[in-house]
Amino acid sequence: MAETKLKFLNYSPNRDVVFVLGAGASHPDGVPLQKHILPMILSGGIKEIQESEIGKQVIEFIKSNFVYNSKRHQYPQLEAVFGFLDYFIQQNESLNSKYPNFKIRTIKEYLIKLIHYIVNLQTDKPSKYYHLFWKGILDNNKNVSIITLNYDTLLEQAFDFLFKKYGYIDYCFHLMNYDKIKPLKRFNFWINPREPVVRENGYDPSAFKIIKVHGSLNWKYCNCCNQTLLTPWDRKIDLQRGKFLGYTYPDKEEYEYRCPLDGTEFQTLIMPPSYVKSLNQPVITQLLSEAAREIRDAKKIIFVGYSVSDADVHIKALFKKQLNPNKEIIVINTKISDALKNKYYALSDKIEFKNLSFEEMVTNPKIMTDLLT
Ligand SMILES: [Zn+2]
Repeated sequence: MAETKLKFLNYSPNRDVVFVLGAGASHPDGVPLQKHILPMILSGGIKEIQESEIGKQVIEFIKSNFVYNSKRHQYPQLEAVFGFLDYFIQQNESLNSKYPNFKIRTIKEYLIKLIHYIVNLQTDKPSKYYHLFWKGILDNNKNVSIITLNYDTLLEQAFDFLFKKYGYIDYCFHLMNYDKIKPLKRFNFWINPREPVVRENGYDPSAFKIIKVHGSLNWKYCNCCNQTLLTPWDRKIDLQRGKFLGYTYPDKEEYEYRCPLDGTEFQTLIMPPSYVKSLNQPVITQLLSEAAREIRDAKKIIFVGYSVSDADVHIKALFKKQLNPNKEIIVINTKISDALKNKYYALSDKIEFKNLSFEEMVTNPKIMTDLLT
């Protein structure tokens, strides 16, 4: 009789390296930076946005409340627009008769959906750089966790070649996909790395924490059952109606996603940048706590392509609380200005700066070995 070997993928108590990935890590694959998003929405360059109901309403709102000039490339900051919307939401106030409080909430969700749409535009092809990133980890040191501030899924898509034989992705919170009940049967494909996994002959898998503290394009949140469904391959959004779209396999027929348990429409689970940010989303709160534990117990923290935005007060607070003077901290960035240095020195005075891009880092095996050992 064949013997089924089950294995617990235990984490060692301390992490050797925790990577913190910012926009600079996904940008080489064509994911737009935050400062490009509003120009993309407002300049008229993307027809689907201009012609969609969601796009029209968001553009009209920004036109009525901000002044900008497309010809001169002068646009408001994304965090200022979200800050303005969040003010009314937090105060529970209306802006005027045209924009009562409920309408403000709708505009905010629409703007998030536009961001979702834009970030997803370039992410269908596999990323060569993230592939090399994983390869570097596999070759040098698997005791690594990743905290990412990016919504895109390039990092996970590039994990494909590790799956089963070398590792499993641990998103660090409960997914509906793990529940072995009838309505969720067709989503049971995702393996929970915190339960024993079947170990095939010759395979020696580890679990890798990917902590997406600003959410992800492939997470769909139901605010009725408060659960999240992972749809690894379906990230598309219908801008006319604001619905999430899925595709049947193998016929590729399009359908709308709804919560399989209660039929409620899903919400996006991405945290947009904002000067007035509420972090009450239960999944995000949980991920920030997990990130805090990883940072506290790590020997080395490596920031890659992250500019410490002024809107990321929660990220500053996270590191300020958990970093101790003995921790080795490396900052990899192509724009090491005094302003950037000061933002990092505010977190710790023992920091090593390296003038490198994410591409340069992952394509150089020696650099990867130095970083990981
Ligand atoms: Zn539900």
